[in-house]
Amino acid sequence: MTQSINRRGRRALLRRILVAAGASALFHTRYSAIAALKISQKAVAYQDHPEGDKRCEKCAQFQAPNACKMVDGAINPQGYCRIFVPIRQSMLHLGSTGDYSDPV
Ligand code: SF4
Repeated sequence: MTQSINRRGRRALLRRILVAAGASALFHTRYSAIAALKISQKAVAYQDHPEGDKRCEKCAQFQAPNACKMVDGAINPQGYCRIFVPIRQSMLHLGSTGDYSDPV
């Protein structure tokens, strides 16, 4: 009787370990996929200096102090790339009217 209970206990413990390991593997896979979604600096022609008045610190994708939501690697706040999105323009997309025109 005691051996039967111990066996059931061990099976339940093993099941829990396998479920936890599976969940951990799934989380790791998803996290890696998200991390891999960033674009290379080369693909967007990233440069470490501004293009006129366009620079990363004025871009909606910029994450201070030196990262970007879209582009991989260290990003200079004074840099620039082809997918630059001005902060002002991105704020218009958040408007409640659905109209993307400039209200000014
Ligand atoms: Fe990222 Fe914008 Fe700089 Fe391009 S311009 S690297 S999208 S912060």
